[in-house]
Amino acid sequence: RLRHVRPSTQQQHRLLNHFVSRVPEPTEEQQQQQPQPPPPPTPPFRFTLAVKDNISTTTSPAAAAAAHPTTCASPFLTTYHAPFEATIVTQLRARGARLVGKTNLDEFGMGSHSTHSALGAVAQEPQDPSNNDEKNILQVSAGGSSGGSAVAVATGEADVALGTDTGGSVRLPAAYCGVVGYKPSYGMLSRFGVVPYANSLDTVGLLAPGVGRIGELVFEDGGLWAEHDPRDPTSLSVAARRRCAQGRVGYATAASAAGAAAGGWEGRAVGEGLLRGLRLGIPLEYNIEELDPRIRDAWAQAAKKLQEEFGARVVPVSLPSTRHALAAYYVIAPAEASSNLAKYDGVRYGVRDTEAASDAAGGVLYAASRGKGFGDEVKRRILLGSYTLSSEAMDNYFIKAQRVRRLVRRDFNRVFALDNPLHERETFDLTDLDESIAMEDKWGPEEVDFLLCPTAPTLAPRLEDVMNQTPVDAYMNDVFTVPASLAGLPAISIPMPVASGIAGEVAGGSGTAGLQLIGQYWDDARLLAVADAVS
Ligand code: GLN
Repeated sequence: RLRHVRPSTQQQHRLLNHFVSRVPEPTEEQQQQQPQPPPPPTPPFRFTLAVKDNISTTTSPAAAAAAHPTTCASPFLTTYHAPFEATIVTQLRARGARLVGKTNLDEFGMGSHSTHSALGAVAQEPQDPSNNDEKNILQVSAGGSSGGSAVAVATGEADVALGTDTGGSVRLPAAYCGVVGYKPSYGMLSRFGVVPYANSLDTVGLLAPGVGRIGELVFEDGGLWAEHDPRDPTSLSVAARRRCAQGRVGYATAASAAGAAAGGWEGRAVGEGLLRGLRLGIPLEYNIEELDPRIRDAWAQAAKKLQEEFGARVVPVSLPSTRHALAAYYVIAPAEASSNLAKYDGVRYGVRDTEAASDAAGGVLYAASRGKGFGDEVKRRILLGSYTLSSEAMDNYFIKAQRVRRLVRRDFNRVFALDNPLHERETFDLTDLDESIAMEDKWGPEEVDFLLCPTAPTLAPRLEDVMNQTPVDAYMNDVFTVPASLAGLPAISIPMPVASGIAGEVAGGSGTAGLQLIGQYWDDARLLAVADAVS
């Protein structure tokens, strides 16, 4: 049985605040006393799994009655039990996962530092673990919104953790905590059982200490990439999956199936082979003024290393719409959220303001319950979203943001050598010439395989500074992660060493920053292989 975390005797667990609930180890007494019923046939144990608490779980797939709360770190849902388990959790159990607990997050996934949680902020391990001073431990942001998952992996309590990535929530905490965070192509991994934040952007992502385990789960024979889930309307059909994989390296071909049979995912070896002759693009628009100089240096070093050691070709590219992507994201995501969260009305789920309930006017119950049940950041998003969807503001905000989204996607399609299998290659006509000539919408010859950029503009900040940030400052953190989300592209953050900071300064809890690789739609297998080879 799972239970809520009580203040643990282990100081670290209390201070990191990264779990919402944990599966307790059975005591020796329990183990000896209880006559064990024959266990249901379960696949052999392969790895421990922590699950972000906006993903539904049950204690055992067979026992829905023993469902575990799925709180979304919201005051609204502290006692909510999902009657089913998310497909992704069931899929991972079938591949040998053992659940160790549900992890803390920003309420409904809205945030970048895992501070907007009904359970309090998540903190990551200090750089100097021998320093047990409470203030030191609590001072560095784990990133968000999947901060608890990243910390569970960084501390070794989970071999793999599930997160959700709507605008960077897997990649950013991975970058801050020095682990790997992978956001798949939109529609690849099932979202059934994941509490929606912004449906057109939401993906389920995986965090782990290295790329290898993620590659195995997603791409070895019988990997997750091939599984369509009929219960998730955004899950790509089997036919579409096959079509998208055509011409893509690393999908279940005879060769890779043979690799799997020979003992697992061959990603690293494949990646090393691929790197020679690969073209990597450095998006110039990502070199912003706000970029921490240590990260800029590390980024340049990484590019140099890829060129000199791995024989890749590194070329500058331009993604001109990037500068508008963040603003577009913060219109689209809150708009979808305001619609999604309308279902929390005090009648169907969670918190109900009982005093207001006795009032005859239904509207009072609704408003009072929502007033109590949502945290401040969620309320801010609902207000923003409701405003940008209102008739007077719609054209100026929501519609414009959708146009920007299209431009962002077009920028990516222009620079990638591979086509986006979901969109026709765009063409334009030179109509004012005598002859109408259809030209392919590409910038020029420098078409690239992957984009290489930092995951975040700064190292993990102190929680104290985060608390003093304005909401817009906090949104700024997502500037490098939202473009791939708007375009639905696969992206991965791997740890990148940075030169240590000024003496006495915490250079991020992990002492590393995140290096982000972004690929064309459904080029996930090659993305992971290359990331494995360079990390
Ligand atoms: N920080 C972004 C937001 O608050 C991204 C969150 C996410 O990916 N879930 O919306």
